[in-house]
Amino acid sequence: MAATSSEGEGKPIRCKAAVARRPGESLVIEEIMVAPPMPREVRIRIICSSICHIDLTFSDMQDPPGFFPRILGHEAIGVVESVGKNVTEVTKGDVVIPIFLPDCGECIDCKSTKSNLCTNFPFKVSPWMPRHENTRFTDLNGEIIHHFMYVSSFSEYTVVTFANVTKIDPEIPPNGACLLSCGIGAGVGAAWRTAGVEPGSTVAIFGLGSIGLAVAEGARLCGATKIIGVDVNPEKFEVGKKFGLTDFVHAGECGSKPVSQVITEMTDGGADYCFECVGMASLVQDAYASCRKGWGKTIVLGLDKPGSRISLSCSEVLHGGKTIQGNLFGGLKPKSHVSILLKRYMDKELQLDEFVTHEVSFKDINKAFDLLRNGQCLRCMIWMDN
Ligand SMILES: [Zn+2]
Ligand SMILES: [Zn+2]
Repeated sequence: MAATSSEGEGKPIRCKAAVARRPGESLVIEEIMVAPPMPREVRIRIICSSICHIDLTFSDMQDPPGFFPRILGHEAIGVVESVGKNVTEVTKGDVVIPIFLPDCGECIDCKSTKSNLCTNFPFKVSPWMPRHENTRFTDLNGEIIHHFMYVSSFSEYTVVTFANVTKIDPEIPPNGACLLSCGIGAGVGAAWRTAGVEPGSTVAIFGLGSIGLAVAEGARLCGATKIIGVDVNPEKFEVGKKFGLTDFVHAGECGSKPVSQVITEMTDGGADYCFECVGMASLVQDAYASCRKGWGKTIVLGLDKPGSRISLSCSEVLHGGKTIQGNLFGGLKPKSHVSILLKRYMDKELQLDEFVTHEVSFKDINKAFDLLRNGQCLRCMIWMDN
């Protein structure tokens, strides 16, 4: 169905955005112009947005892929304001979550049940729109402002490609749906889709930040009976209990035993599934050593610094019979799996609200950055209307 026409459609919108002007500096709330959507694009009014470490990393990044000025933000929910030509998937007024990982629905990978890595729009942290390599944002002097992760949600309005929007049920509470658009969705998805955790299985999670806790929640949802958290901060265990953690290993206080030996003993031969959620190559090796020979699976979620490598001995690989697997967005296909998880949230099986530890209004967005920088929050929700 074609969108009904209204006043602002097809014209630029003047609105407020939080612009990252210079690396390492606070965002500046200013008025900007948001161009109308081009063919196969959608303009969205953002309802709320959460913030994750990737926003923080890129707000500090001096050199490419860091670009300035830029509108950060990539975990969000909004309402379609208008659509460009040839958009059939959504129409004006639909509630959508913009998701950084494209799902075109047409390429061999999007059609496959095995992959969520689109070939038509391969994901990269580009400063542009994916299809035309240009921007829909300008400041009031006419200077261009860069995009971020194909979403740029720290703005009252943004433009995304059809492949990056997932329509959802408008009855779903916006903060819960927003959380599934990146980090929390990736953690839950890694347990459900990438690992395929089964009822009764054992799981070890290295790093109990919000992604690690989301893995715990996913493993709990899948019926894992032993979920071990590994971290240097024992306070994380208390937080993690509500997401299903059953055991804790205080890394750094295992005496002479390596962590992998402690986990192997706790699980009577190694965990069925191990997850690396920190972004340290050495921890990937520890996770690999902690999973069970023959069928153990290690899932990599963290990203170490550029150029870092994982070292495994050939005999360990050959004799171990284990699997090591990476993933983007926890292996979730944005247009099919997210709605399944949202149903489980609405059925009160999947816990999402518990991840929201703080809420601020848009004008206080820099407070959200400070909370995350100081490790004080799991997820801080930024509400546009307040
Ligand atoms: Zn595709
Ligand atoms: Zn994120």
